[in-house]
Amino acid sequence: MYYLTMASATTYIDDMRSKPDVVDLPKSEDMTEICENDPSQHAIKPNVTVASSVRELLECPVCLNAMYPPIHQCSNGHTLCSGCKPRVHNRCPTCRHELGNIRCLALEKIAASLELPCKYQSFGCTGIYPYYSKLKHEMHCACRPYSCPYAGSECTVIGDIPYLVAHLKDDHKVDMHNGSTFNHRYVKSNPNEVENATWMLTVFSCFGQYFCLHFEAFQLGMAPVYMAFLRFMGGDNEAKKYSYSLEVGGNGRKMIWQGVPRSIRDGHRKVRDSFDGLVIQRNMALFFSGGDRKELKLRVTGRIWKEQ
Ligand SMILES: [Zn+2]
Ligand SMILES: [Zn+2]
Ligand SMILES: [Zn+2]
Ligand SMILES: [Zn+2]
Repeated sequence: MYYLTMASATTYIDDMRSKPDVVDLPKSEDMTEICENDPSQHAIKPNVTVASSVRELLECPVCLNAMYPPIHQCSNGHTLCSGCKPRVHNRCPTCRHELGNIRCLALEKIAASLELPCKYQSFGCTGIYPYYSKLKHEMHCACRPYSCPYAGSECTVIGDIPYLVAHLKDDHKVDMHNGSTFNHRYVKSNPNEVENATWMLTVFSCFGQYFCLHFEAFQLGMAPVYMAFLRFMGGDNEAKKYSYSLEVGGNGRKMIWQGVPRSIRDGHRKVRDSFDGLVIQRNMALFFSGGDRKELKLRVTGRIWKEQ
């Protein structure tokens, strides 16, 4: 087991005003924005009803997903998506008639004329997209939810940043700290037992943002190594506005790492495998620990700052 202790001396409380999430929508030619208070919105209400019934028509009766060309239909006019067609053994799932190979061009054309809101509207996206480019936008939508950054468990929780911060605190019992400097001790009583992956996560709150400090022990080939790195709870463009440094040392030696936090859109494993952090070989870690190599005692100090 690892123990984590905070040294009390060097913790500064930073400005904690909660900034509203900055939503940088991707610049896309086919994107139009709606304004919630736009009075012209009321005038087009009847069309909204038409659009939603067309949306129902565009829902595949089998998988309930939105249909994209080629949209198929039986001789009675029942429609089906191209993903489900091979799975129904040439029988219309609605009327059991033979399906054949008829395309529903009319529905495909109506779909092309539709404009729909991004499915992450409830996460703050205000984009409205032509039916056929909506999927592509949603794959890169800046408002799409993040995966839980907790490493080492198969946690499938997704959400926006405030939701994930609360989730880390409540469900993973993660240590939360205010401030942009830190001073942690990682202690392990038997350093010879390096499991394949041991991890510690601490969440820092500073500059109105949240950062995850990962400390991991893993086997690299035959050699156990320790690695510490920082991830930013937000998108890549925001992450690049920050830098951080980590220092570990003892016995008169010191290692210093300076880096840029990675967005939590990059999985912790991806960051780890690219060695984008402070990597400490076990021998060096034991050297830093002092004593008789029976105990691992690493003191990691660090700082996060905002680049101008
Ligand atoms: Zn389907
Ligand atoms: Zn049919
Ligand atoms: Zn979106
Ligand atoms: Zn989680």
